[in-house]
Amino acid sequence: MEVDGRIEGSGGVSPAGARGPALAASLQLDTAIQFVRGVGPKRAALLGKRGIRRVEDILFHFPRRYEDRSEFASLDSLRPGASVTIRATVLGVHWIPTRARGGLLDVVLTDGRSTLHAKWFNAGRLYRNQVFSAGVRLVATGKPERDRYGAGVVLFNPEFEIVPDGDAASGLEPDAYAPVYEELAGVTSRQVRSIVGAALDGLSADIEDPLPGEMRGRLKLPALGASFRGLHRPRLEDDLDQLNRRRSPYHRRFIFEEFLLMELTLARERRRTRARDGVRFTTGDRIRERVKTILSFHPTAAQKRVLREIVDDLKAPHPMNRLLQGDVGSGKTIVAFETVVIAVENGFQAVIMAPTEILAEQHYINARRVFAPLGYEVVLLRKGSAKDDPEALDSVGSGRAQLVIGTHAVLEEGAAFHRLGLVVIDEQHRFGVLQRLRLMEKGTRPNTLVMTATPIPRTLAMTFYGDLDVSVIDEMPPGRTPIRTEHVTERDRARAATSIREDLAAGGQCYVVYPLIEESEKLDLRSATEGFQQLAATFPGRRVGLLHGRMKSEEKEAVMQSFSAGRLDILVSTTVVEVGVDVPHAGLMVVEHAERFGIAQLHQLRGRVGRGRRRGRCLLMTPDRIGDAAVERVRAVVATTDGFRLAETDLKLRGPGELAGTRQSGVPEFRVADIVEDMDILVEARDEAERCVRDVRLADALIRRLSGRHGPANLAGVG
Ligand code: ADP
Ligand code: MG
Repeated sequence: MEVDGRIEGSGGVSPAGARGPALAASLQLDTAIQFVRGVGPKRAALLGKRGIRRVEDILFHFPRRYEDRSEFASLDSLRPGASVTIRATVLGVHWIPTRARGGLLDVVLTDGRSTLHAKWFNAGRLYRNQVFSAGVRLVATGKPERDRYGAGVVLFNPEFEIVPDGDAASGLEPDAYAPVYEELAGVTSRQVRSIVGAALDGLSADIEDPLPGEMRGRLKLPALGASFRGLHRPRLEDDLDQLNRRRSPYHRRFIFEEFLLMELTLARERRRTRARDGVRFTTGDRIRERVKTILSFHPTAAQKRVLREIVDDLKAPHPMNRLLQGDVGSGKTIVAFETVVIAVENGFQAVIMAPTEILAEQHYINARRVFAPLGYEVVLLRKGSAKDDPEALDSVGSGRAQLVIGTHAVLEEGAAFHRLGLVVIDEQHRFGVLQRLRLMEKGTRPNTLVMTATPIPRTLAMTFYGDLDVSVIDEMPPGRTPIRTEHVTERDRARAATSIREDLAAGGQCYVVYPLIEESEKLDLRSATEGFQQLAATFPGRRVGLLHGRMKSEEKEAVMQSFSAGRLDILVSTTVVEVGVDVPHAGLMVVEHAERFGIAQLHQLRGRVGRGRRRGRCLLMTPDRIGDAAVERVRAVVATTDGFRLAETDLKLRGPGELAGTRQSGVPEFRVADIVEDMDILVEARDEAERCVRDVRLADALIRRLSGRHGPANLAGVG
């Protein structure tokens, strides 16, 4: 379709269908919406409320679906059954006031050969506004039904559109696919179509395409203007099915563009990091020996491989920027500790950042034990250390502290390091791209190792961690038998008690975990406290401990330490044990209200048990009746211990944003693209981005052009 623009430059009100003075097509993408023909100040205000202020915004209001109007059924061919689209002219209108249904509008239609009744209930508005009057042409879609009050068939409440007089560009010619739009606050699909049509007609022929022609050619992507036209006014040559699945070349183009902007930003960041001078470590025999002294077992082949990858990074002139992925219990911690040894032996300080205080404490306890033979100074920075623990802070600043452990809040509190050479982030998908980048910008450019137990599919990893190199521990330490997981409902509660008794008798320790409901911390506390009292009563000879988020961190640490040391048999806790806690003798975990947890969370939780030689067991307790979604989650977790498979199930059930914690991570919300459905295009965009950043100026220019179009908020701060 050609751009044959006619607009009213004044932006005054003009009824759709009327012709304004013929002007050259002059709308730019950032022209205010009220300068589009048919949009006056009033409608512009309405649209503005929905965020549609510029020409670009309405053009990005993509059709929800497309209807095949390439063939109109003739009226005499209609039989009850499948939906049809007809084109007809109104012969007459009858208004039948009814008490029950707010009035019935009976419209008689003709296609020149025969007639048909179309009836609308609750049609007072249609009637009063005289939408249908004799001679009006319309296109209607609906399912023919047998007419109980007359002969033949009738269409009840068909979707319809009035064909404006002599408007060939409305997408209502018989040989077209008609786009159907989501209504916008008081602006119907039809009105949206006519506004979009006017915007397309008025669109300047020289709008800038942010994608270079060469790139478009190679990837077979249509140009910008053609893509807008293709989306809003598809032609018969287009594939209707593709259009409806958002996979037409036009859709692909916009999806690609969105991904490209993100991938370019990440690729540029990757490149910048590599170009920077970082701290360069050496690893001689002496250091290798030192590393070995902290091992109390033989590392797995996967752990060795990953350490080699890390060592290569550390020896390179640019700072390490690596993601270490590995399922719960795969042994990431020791790899991090080995890396710490290298940093410290090179005369640098290292920091381990944990997502929760409890996990920081756990790392601290662990680290003190592991590094004891090397005599390292290990310091734990707690929330409030800045004022409560000046000595700790001072040891960080003076460089006396060789390994510093704390939550990410610690660094944000402004702990100044003397000579920071390594940052380990035990992420557990709580930090995201933005926070990480912010951290890396802190003064020195330390080597960074991000550890995540969230097994995410590769393509997703490269999206969310696209600025990082990736290492994977894909092997469990030897002698692990997979955890046995069972679903137990309330009516079988006695089984849980029996299991606990058995496990304790066999010398094990148990976790009993309660969910943390953010909006009612009190309630959690109560259920955990009640559970604690009940268990204490049920197992009088046993030592039962309680751990919850409201305790002071020294109290938490004391309880945790008692449990680690085997001085407690049962630990009742809110989900504070979720991440990373390592107690080898814990063999059984009972998760109360498992229906309230997500898949990833349940998988993390049960990873806390069966870390020693004995087979771990996990009971997922739920009420007798739970919702379908909860059933699916619990089933998935019972069915497999393979974190990757679970992640994929999770992805299907919840969508990618949730999975990767996008809300906190600053991963952009896409207008068109869908990270799961459009993964193939994502891969394409990633490759293309890699190619582009070889020429930094080109990449910068492209990022600028693309972000101009997609709005500056999209990836703010990432670049
Ligand atoms: P995660 O990857 O979940 O952080 P951890 O690092 O906490 O896992 O390791 C889980 C448990 O496995 C710990 O008790 C750790 O000491 C043990 N472990 C790690 N690597 C090995 C190994 N190669 N051989 C035996 N045990 C190991
Ligand atoms: Mg861990």
